[in-house]
Amino acid sequence: SDSVPFLWLSLSAGIFGFGPGVIMRTLSVSVQRCGYKYVNAQEMPTDLRSITDRAATTLLWTKPNSLETMSYLFREPATINYPFEKGPLSPRFRGEQALRRYPNGEERCIACKLCEAICPVQAITIEAETRADGSRRTTRYDIDMTKCIYCGFCQEACPVDAIVEGPNFEFSTESHKKLLYNKEKLLNNGDRWESEIAANVQADYLYR
Ligand code: SF4
Ligand code: SF4
Repeated sequence: SDSVPFLWLSLSAGIFGFGPGVIMRTLSVSVQRCGYKYVNAQEMPTDLRSITDRAATTLLWTKPNSLETMSYLFREPATINYPFEKGPLSPRFRGEQALRRYPNGEERCIACKLCEAICPVQAITIEAETRADGSRRTTRYDIDMTKCIYCGFCQEACPVDAIVEGPNFEFSTESHKKLLYNKEKLLNNGDRWESEIAANVQADYLYR
């Protein structure tokens, strides 16, 4: 029908950013077809250069969104070049589990099994024995990392800050077997991340 080219031309003008004058001229083309009469319709040059200039002016300088977008050319990028750059982590970040030791090398865990009892997905398995000196220590401390939901309950329950969720989040692997952590693996994690873990515990101690 006659209204189809009218709509098409009007939409094209809007999408490509033509100025009001171009739109009015477009409308004036449709005047004869649609029977409308427009007053004060401005005559604008319709050569390709003029249209391109007006479109560029409209798009680049008069649209607030375009200016906002262009301003990002002069700002520091929000993206980082991971894994060579990493963003900051909260002291409360709950990453890979670790078992900590005291400064003299003795393991902190006293095998109370509170962490095992509170774990909502039963990811922790502990076996314990009493040593010759009367202290109670674990003989087995396993965490099935494929069950863990990183809720942090184990670390909250621990009375001696032995089991913690450290800052390491880069422990993905290709096999299920490698995510079945034993005591040796957890103690190694603690040795590796002790300085960061100690700093995080210190930063958050007022809230625990
Ligand atoms: S973080 Fe939660 S789910 Fe994971 S081992 Fe600790 S208590 Fe269990
Ligand atoms: S890690 Fe903490 S809560 Fe779990 S058995 Fe050892 S001392 Fe108890």
